[in-house]
Amino acid sequence: MLNFIITGAPGCGKGTQSQLLEQKYGLKHFSTGDALRAEIASGSALGKEIDGILAAGNLVSDDFMIKLIGNFIDTLPTSCKGFILDGFPRTIVQAYALTQLFEQKQIKAYLLHIMVDEPEVVKRILKRGESSGRADDNLESIKHRLKVYHEQTAPICRYYLARNNYFVVNGNFEVEETFAQIDMLTALLQHAEQ
Ligand code: ADP
Repeated sequence: MLNFIITGAPGCGKGTQSQLLEQKYGLKHFSTGDALRAEIASGSALGKEIDGILAAGNLVSDDFMIKLIGNFIDTLPTSCKGFILDGFPRTIVQAYALTQLFEQKQIKAYLLHIMVDEPEVVKRILKRGESSGRADDNLESIKHRLKVYHEQTAPICRYYLARNNYFVVNGNFEVEETFAQIDMLTALLQHAEQ
C-alpha cells in the first residue's frame, strides 16, 4: 500500500491534488472536510452542531475526528492500493493518535505538505467562495482559519519531519504543474515500495 497524508493551509489545493492522485494511482481519497459537510447536509442534530463550528472556521473536536478516521481505516477494503488522508491530522493530538493507529495496523504513510504563499491562498478561497456555497469561504472566516492553521496544524509538520517521512511540494503553480511534482514523487515512492 502507498499511503499519503496531505497537509497545507486552507486553500492550498489539498482536495484538487488528492483527486488527481486518486485518479492516476487508484488511491482512496478521504477528505475530512467533505465527510463533515456530508454530515451537515444530512440535517442531523450532529450536523447542525458541526455546521456552527465549520462556519466559524474552528476545528471539530479531536475525539470525534479520531473516531472518524479510525472508522475509515477499519473499513478499507483488503484490495485497497493505498489511501490519501486529506485534512487529518490537523492537530498534534490527532497526529499522535494517527501514529498509534498506524502502529496497531502496521500501516506506513508519507506526509505531503503543499506550500502556498498566504496572499495566494486567500485569493483562491475568495474565488472558490463565489461558487462553493461554503459558509467558511469568506474573508473573516479565512483569516481565522489561517490563524488556526498556524497555531494548531502547522506544528504537525515538524513532527513528521522528525519522523523522516515528510515531503514538500510547491503549490504556488497551476494545478497541473503542482501535480507534476506530486506525480514524480509518487512514482519514486511507489518504486521504492516494491
Ligand atoms: P480547508 O482545507 O479549505 O480549510 P476542509 O474542507 O479541509 O477545508 O475543512 C473544512 C473545515 O472542516 C475546517 O475548517 C474544520 O472546521 C473542519 N475539519 C476538517 N478536518 C478536521 C480535523 N482533522 N480536525 C478538526 N476539524 C476539521
